[in-house]
Amino acid sequence: MKIGAIKETRPDENRVALSPTVCKQLIKNGFECIIESGAGLNSFFSDEAYVEAGANVISSADEVYRTADVLCKVNPPNEEEIEKLKAGSVLISFVYHLTNQALVEKINARKVSLFSMDAIPRISRAQTMDALSSQANLAGYKAVIIGANETGRIFPMLMTAAGTITPAKVLIFGAGVAGLQAIGTARRLGAVVEVTDIRPETKEEVESLGGKFISFDMGSGVKIEGGYVKEAGEDVLTRQREILKKHLATADIVVTTAQVPGRKAPVLVTEDMVKVMKLGSVIVDMAVEQGGNCALSEVGKAVIKHGVKIVGYTNLPSMLAPNASDSYAKNIFAFVTHLASNEGFKWDMNDEITAGTLICRDGQILKP
Ligand code: NAD
Repeated sequence: MKIGAIKETRPDENRVALSPTVCKQLIKNGFECIIESGAGLNSFFSDEAYVEAGANVISSADEVYRTADVLCKVNPPNEEEIEKLKAGSVLISFVYHLTNQALVEKINARKVSLFSMDAIPRISRAQTMDALSSQANLAGYKAVIIGANETGRIFPMLMTAAGTITPAKVLIFGAGVAGLQAIGTARRLGAVVEVTDIRPETKEEVESLGGKFISFDMGSGVKIEGGYVKEAGEDVLTRQREILKKHLATADIVVTTAQVPGRKAPVLVTEDMVKVMKLGSVIVDMAVEQGGNCALSEVGKAVIKHGVKIVGYTNLPSMLAPNASDSYAKNIFAFVTHLASNEGFKWDMNDEITAGTLICRDGQILKP
């Protein structure tokens, strides 16, 4: 079975779906690998490294589309790429099928079987395949580094002959995958870290990383299901915003990662709250693509509002391409070898991972 990867066409994308290391592992498992020349360059993987790993490097993306039985991508295919998909082949990519129904229909019309990487269930058996987590983890790190770059302040406390410099204060919203990494990163740089989340169990995790958990009375307005927030009522958010106001007033950097799966991100920083923040402070809004945790965030931009820099960059993992591609490719390897052997795919719909990720097959949409 031939597994291919092409150079990603999204303008700000430096990642690639297969690394030389993973090609080597796939080949060891009996698969063949076909890579478009230059596909890995922005992740610092040279064509020579792929060749050394045993992959077939070819100059044209079209040929990869024509010959691969399985095409691995990072980003959902665009219109032009959909046209090139080979009937009967398998596409493995982030697709975000819940919010991209038209895209799913177009892929399905090409008679392509689609597995969506963002649909991998967050269960322990699937941890090695969990690309949303591997990428969010790196993004949480990068968000703090961006915040550190944008602020005019240093993070650690410094005792100098000229006096003491107090540590920066970092406020983090959401202690999920990205948030926990952000806490660890900010602590390692020496900042004082405060954290808000509405899942009570996160308090212990936050404290174990050296963060201070901001507790408030949530009443009965938060519904948790399977370890995820299912719903948070407006009354809870109003109370939370009230508590957060005084923490925002003293924060130097705010990293926001709060999300409720399948919903618009909760607005936790209103314009009035931005106004109470210190001049020169920074908000890095990681939830910007889900509508933003800050009401003033703009998708893909860094803007200054009321003296506060608000950063809404959408592809932080791509800024750490060598690590992000390496992790994503390892997720792909674990996923492919779970779904298939060189003899073919198992199509085992009794398997939670297959059933959860297979979006369409043989011209039929399985997850409308
Ligand atoms: P996650 O589901 O692991 O964590 C989200 C956390 O938010 C959970 O702990 C949840 O309890 C918490 N939360 C929900 N409502 C809250 C509220 N009102 N107050 C405080 N916390 C609340 O998600 P993740 O994988 O860590 O991703 C976080 C966000 O970052 C998502 O919006 C994701 O799309 C985004 N993201 C952005 C980039 C980027 O490049 N900008 C990259 C990766 C992830």
